Amino acid sequence: MQSIPGNQVLDAEGLDAADPLRSMRDQFELPEGVIYLNGNSLGPLPRATKARMAEVVEQEWGAGLIRSWNNAGWVDLPQRIGSMIAPLVGAESDEVIVADSTSVNLFKLIHAGLKLNAGRTKVVTELGNFPTDLYVLQGVERDTAIKLCAVPREQILDVIDEDTALVVLTHVHYKSGEMFDLKAVTDLAHSVGALILWDLSHSTGAVPVALSAAGVDLALGCGYKYLNGGPGAPSFLYVAKRHQDHFEQPLTGWFGHAQPFAMSDQFEPAVGMTRALCGTPPVLGCVALEEGVRLVREVDMAEVRRKSIALSEFFIEQVETRLIQFGFELASPRESDRRGSQISLRHPEAYPIMQALIAAGVIGDFRAPDILRFGFAPLYTRFVDVEQAVCQLEHVMLSQGWRDPQFQVRAAVT
Ligand SMILES: *Cc1c(COP(=O)(O)O)cnc(C)c1O
Repeated sequence: MQSIPGNQVLDAEGLDAADPLRSMRDQFELPEGVIYLNGNSLGPLPRATKARMAEVVEQEWGAGLIRSWNNAGWVDLPQRIGSMIAPLVGAESDEVIVADSTSVNLFKLIHAGLKLNAGRTKVVTELGNFPTDLYVLQGVERDTAIKLCAVPREQILDVIDEDTALVVLTHVHYKSGEMFDLKAVTDLAHSVGALILWDLSHSTGAVPVALSAAGVDLALGCGYKYLNGGPGAPSFLYVAKRHQDHFEQPLTGWFGHAQPFAMSDQFEPAVGMTRALCGTPPVLGCVALEEGVRLVREVDMAEVRRKSIALSEFFIEQVETRLIQFGFELASPRESDRRGSQISLRHPEAYPIMQALIAAGVIGDFRAPDILRFGFAPLYTRFVDVEQAVCQLEHVMLSQGWRDPQFQVRAAVT
């Protein structure tokens, strides 16, 4: 990539030199000439994953064949990785399991939450929540007696009431990066007898979460964002221990059975989180996720949060001094304790600007209609990366490079 002189390079380098997490970057494969600010959408490849995947494919699958279900521990991967994720979200090791996609787990947990709070029919969510969360809720509404109440963020606290069975919210908003006060909203839901289901897709691995301490009922999250589990990595789900004996999910497949290999004609749920499983675990996806999670477990989440805030503040300060003149607006909260680990900017030409920026080697992403997103994953993002990203964005605006016709065509994935 071109190097454009920035006047704060020394500051950024100084901040990197003082960064206690700086050595973690070496654990990732990051291509030369690329500044990767999209780990909130797809985490990069950990070096260990590459070697471990080769081993699993060649040894465990290739040579071990079906014997590896027992001999290589494939059959326990969902529980094992779940227990590794548990401390990252402030849960006990037997409160988390890995399975399926986030969308499928939403379906399971929404149904399960409604059964745990039977008699009530209202489900509260945020208008503008991540689309799959809304779509799964709409499907459940279509097929059951629930009444979905989707309202703008500012009204959510007002509509949670004695009729509410379940509140379904995303902790850190995918578009704005805005973060709910997880404990306060959980307490409010509980004060009127509602249960709460938190989607932690944009929090896990980037923001400390304390599910048990907050008394959260149900939660789930994504494996391929800040957990670096690889494209389409399996998701994880959490059910508070106090609900586990009554927890009933609708996808009663054989891996959720008390004894799958008894091959019984009658479903009987397994004890604990295992009943959240449906079918055969995706072994290759699980193995990749395990390596990603292993890396996040090496660091202190409080340290991760400190760096995330420092990177974000550094970015905002530079945006405010260098980019506001081009019509960018901050689309994330200005107060760091109300944000996750991403900063979003609003601009009417957001799409072609992001395409031009990506062509210049700085990878963020676009969310319709007018948002440029920049994720600051603390394990591998440096302050010099943030500085260079702002330099390149300034260059794209000054040169008007974004006007090039090639940047106007919308790709399938933005
Ligand atoms: C990324 C994300 C998902 C992803 O769902 P998939 O089933 O993996 O496609 C769901 N919800 C939220 C809030 C997300 O950020």
